Amino acid sequence: MAYKRDEEKFKNIAEERVEILFILAKKFCLTDVETAKNYVKAAVRIAKFCNLRLGKKKALFCKRCFTFFNSENSRVRLNSKKNAVEILCLNCRYKRSYGYGTEKNTGRGNRNTIIIQNHNL
Ligand SMILES: [Zn+2]
Repeated sequence: MAYKRDEEKFKNIAEERVEILFILAKKFCLTDVETAKNYVKAAVRIAKFCNLRLGKKKALFCKRCFTFFNSENSRVRLNSKKNAVEILCLNCRYKRSYGYGTEKNTGRGNRNTIIIQNHNL
């Protein structure tokens, strides 16, 4: 049981650190792109190690090359056929899309909305 309690404590610390790293990445994303990339890499590494969900933060960086998006290195378009937001990374041309307009898993007692609220995004 002690192990489980420790794990929860670690998760809280990890969440805090990921939050801080993303704030720092946002601070540096216009001036120093490489530093921002390193912060994102560190945040993703922590999240993977502690089984954290990044949630909406996934839309802030490129999945392939870890660039933190700003107005110069990304392009955001709405695809009305797929009902999706498409983010194109201009560094590596990786396109990421996520849906809009539809709610997922509405039959499960709004489980998704509760998770999003807990993350304080
Ligand atoms: Zn990229």
